[in-house]
Amino acid sequence: MTMPLMHPKRKNPVLRTRQLNLPPGARGRVALGLTAAAAEGRFELQVCEACGALQYPPREACHRCLSPHLKWRAQSGEGALLATTTLHHSNDLFFRERLPWRLGLVHLDAGPTVMVHLHGEVAEVDQAIVRVTVGARLDRAGQAVLIGFPFRGSAHMADDRMLREMTSDPKFRKVLVTDGKTEVGQAIVRALVKAGADVVWVGHAEPWKKFGDGLADIAALPQVTLVPLDLTNGRAVTELAGEIGGKVDIVINNAEVHRSFGIGARRGTDAARAEMDINYFGLLRLAQEFGPALKGRSADGDAGATAWVNLLSIYALSNFPSHGTFSASKAAAHSLAQCLRAEMRPAGIRDINLFPGPIDDEWNQHTPPPKLTAQALAAAIVNALRDGVEDVYPGDVAQEWLERWRDNPKVLERELAAGG
Ligand SMILES: [Zn+2]
Repeated sequence: MTMPLMHPKRKNPVLRTRQLNLPPGARGRVALGLTAAAAEGRFELQVCEACGALQYPPREACHRCLSPHLKWRAQSGEGALLATTTLHHSNDLFFRERLPWRLGLVHLDAGPTVMVHLHGEVAEVDQAIVRVTVGARLDRAGQAVLIGFPFRGSAHMADDRMLREMTSDPKFRKVLVTDGKTEVGQAIVRALVKAGADVVWVGHAEPWKKFGDGLADIAALPQVTLVPLDLTNGRAVTELAGEIGGKVDIVINNAEVHRSFGIGARRGTDAARAEMDINYFGLLRLAQEFGPALKGRSADGDAGATAWVNLLSIYALSNFPSHGTFSASKAAAHSLAQCLRAEMRPAGIRDINLFPGPIDDEWNQHTPPPKLTAQALAAAIVNALRDGVEDVYPGDVAQEWLERWRDNPKVLERELAAGG
């Protein structure tokens, strides 16, 4: 059984914040295939197209027939534990600070034997066969590692000490949600509170206006504090970062402007400019002010700074002409988010990008169903934090578009030009 995580003690401000050490992060190009799958929450191994042999560790040519045609395929990860060991000493600084650390050797039902980090609920090998499920997760350095999970976990499974080092569970963490005025923002706040977040700061751009019902409801939650935040106003972002930047553990940037226009349907650039100002420059302003503060605190105890979440759009991958300028602003934000991810990774902060299809809101009134509900989107964010993934495509529409985009981006462009 995993002991439920206790609320972290108040920090002694006199003590120095623990500095970050990352686990070893160098990987070859082939091994990055494991990381690419783990970043989307899958455990994949290479399968030889010529003879069908499963490969581990990742390699350039088949270990059985030397064919170079190896394809990454999802694995169930089920297997039997062969042996376990507990490290009490390590020369690696990351592991030295986190000892003791359990490792195991698992014989996968699919064939290979793999080394895994062991979840605390996995029993020691005795007379009985211990079944485990192996999954791939990203570690603090952002690289895939394999983890042995118990076949049936307890309710507090996510509180495992080793697992919290890999993931960004919102439990006991302090979160900033940049826009609380939309239904999506309010659903995110509710989901975070339910997931055990300690404090949720909720931005609202026009504090002088009367609250709508939804905002008043979440403002009444004891964990929630409303803060004035207008992402178009650089000075306001700087001021808020000065106030709470040193305490925020997770930033969720859900603020967006969405107008459903292409190029020909409207004269002038006002609407496109407003989209850019929030969707792209807003992210830039936020990242410049809150990024440095987060980076300094990623090793700060059990609930240190851990993740940055961006609400992008599946339209960021390929322009959807009836939402043309919005698509362009999200494509710009996607590119910037990749830069943010690269800058945050060495500091142990995970950048999570969400690419939803059409959301069930006022700007998608003309879009036929299925549309993603605010609650489903909020659940996807909490799950992404708990599983420590990097890229999420929530909902059937996003999944389908992603598949078509991967299959052939040019064909998708033509299909979207014809209306979807
Ligand atoms: Zn082969």
